[in-house]
Amino acid sequence: MPPMDSTSTAFPGWRERLAGLGRAVLDLVLPPRCLACGELVDAQGRLCAECWGDIGFLYGRQCRVCGIPLPDVSAEAPICGRCLDEPPAFDRARSALRYDGVARRLVLRFKHGDRIDGAATFARWMAKAGSELVASADLVIPVPLHRWRLVQRSYNQSALLASAIGEDAQKPVLVDGLVKLRATASQQRLDAAERRRNVRAKDFALGPKARQVVPDRRVLLIDDVLTTGSTASACARCLLSSGARAVDLLTLARVVRDPEAPISI
Ligand SMILES: [Zn+2]
Ligand SMILES: [Zn+2]
Repeated sequence: MPPMDSTSTAFPGWRERLAGLGRAVLDLVLPPRCLACGELVDAQGRLCAECWGDIGFLYGRQCRVCGIPLPDVSAEAPICGRCLDEPPAFDRARSALRYDGVARRLVLRFKHGDRIDGAATFARWMAKAGSELVASADLVIPVPLHRWRLVQRSYNQSALLASAIGEDAQKPVLVDGLVKLRATASQQRLDAAERRRNVRAKDFALGPKARQVVPDRRVLLIDDVLTTGSTASACARCLLSSGARAVDLLTLARVVRDPEAPISI
């Protein structure tokens, strides 16, 4: 295994990058506002009392593979029916939030540029929800955007989360570890089978640096939302076929309902 230089593989200065994108600078002169609804709050990176009361943190008994809540099970390390039927390519997935209501507003505002200053707060929530995954990771890699979408949006929200998590945990981060080769159709309103057909492992490739450091490493893949897992599984299969020892997935939020139903994001 070649050694990893954490300074060269990290995403240096991501906080400055946020400032360059404008919002963080504005926050220095404007009063802090709730990340979800925009109400005035005491400090940057906070939710107002009402949103805090409504947000759904995921905790308690969960599937040991995909992390979906399993409230009525007695087994020590339960596994859900879906993971039994069709094990995902990743070893374990964990998420901080249930994707509905306040969490949905948070993700959408984060994703579409309004509130990227939430990255540090979201990264802390994610690191808590996935503490075992973060501790055992050798390398942190975000789910990539295709470059066209990157041009439209000017940043990859998953790369901001990966950078913050890696920096806090002192783990190397490769923001361009995975590259998306094909601009796939939007996943909105597709069911699970359609999503699997829409995105495949061959749609992704390893970046030049990742080709050297991924073999034999345990990779922590970072994304904003876990819906059916089709994108994360495609990324995981790409990493595994390139020699990764294992892949875990950590997301800010996850859908918790019938995974076969069409999902509107
Ligand atoms: Zn609020
Ligand atoms: Zn499961």
